[in-house]
Parts: sequence; C-alpha cells; structure tokens
Amino acid sequence: MCLFCQIVKGEIPSTKVYEDEKILAFRDINPQAPTHILIVPKEHISSADEITPENSGVVSAIFEKVPQIARAEGLKNGYRLLTNCGEDGCQSVKHLHFHLLGGKKLTERMG
Ligand code: 5GP
Ligand code: ZN
Repeated sequence: MCLFCQIVKGEIPSTKVYEDEKILAFRDINPQAPTHILIVPKEHISSADEITPENSGVVSAIFEKVPQIARAEGLKNGYRLLTNCGEDGCQSVKHLHFHLLGGKKLTERMG
C-alpha cells in the first residue's frame, strides 16, 4: 500500500487538519513554508495524470475545502496550491496530493 494510503488508514501517524469521507488534509513532514499542508483523496489516484471523468469528483471535493482550510490557517494574504506530477514534475509520493503553501511571501519561481 502506498505511503499516503497508509496515512489515510491511520497506519502511519499524521497531523490532520481536515478530514471527511472523501478527503484528508495533513501537515507535510518537511514543511517548505510556515503553512505546508497536503490534501489528498482517500481513494488511491496515482497522480494528476490519472484523473478521469469517473474519479474527478474528489478533485472538486478537495478544491471546495481549500478556502476553509486556508482560512483556518490564517492565510489572509494568499497562498499557493500545487500538485507535482511524474518524473519531470518531481512527484515523490505516487498518490495524488495538493500542496497548500503559505504564511510567507513565496518565491516567484515555479520551475
Ligand atoms: P511530492 O514531492 O510528491 O510532491 O510531495 C510529497 C510530500 O510528502 C513532500 O513534501 C514530503 O515532505 C511529504 N512527505 C513524505 N513522507 C511523509 C510522511 O510520512 N508524512 C507526511 N506528513 N508528509 C510526508
Ligand atoms: Zn495511495
């Protein structure tokens, strides 16, 4: 089972910030900003490249909760939401996840 599936099942501990039947948000173990949260579907989807009409509902479920999570973190001045995909995107965990980064002025570089 993949690392984030194990976190979803509670077999590996995480610091949860939001959970419902479809999605889980938890703090990144190696934060790259004062707020660095990972938001994942509970269902295993390998990456953004595996999103289909059949499974995309969970992506809107994640995006619908982003404003609430950002507000709870006090990210009044904005934030960055991103997903790394595949080898060139430097995706290290092969379970779809969105990074929510904020709490400071982030770098302008994206690539
Ligand atoms: P990626 O590089 O795939 O876009 O992001 C994977 C993220 O998962 C990294 O930011 C990394 O710090 C985080 N990560 C890796 N292992 C763990 C873990 O066991 N627990 C938590 N909370 N985050 C992890
Ligand atoms: Zn998984």
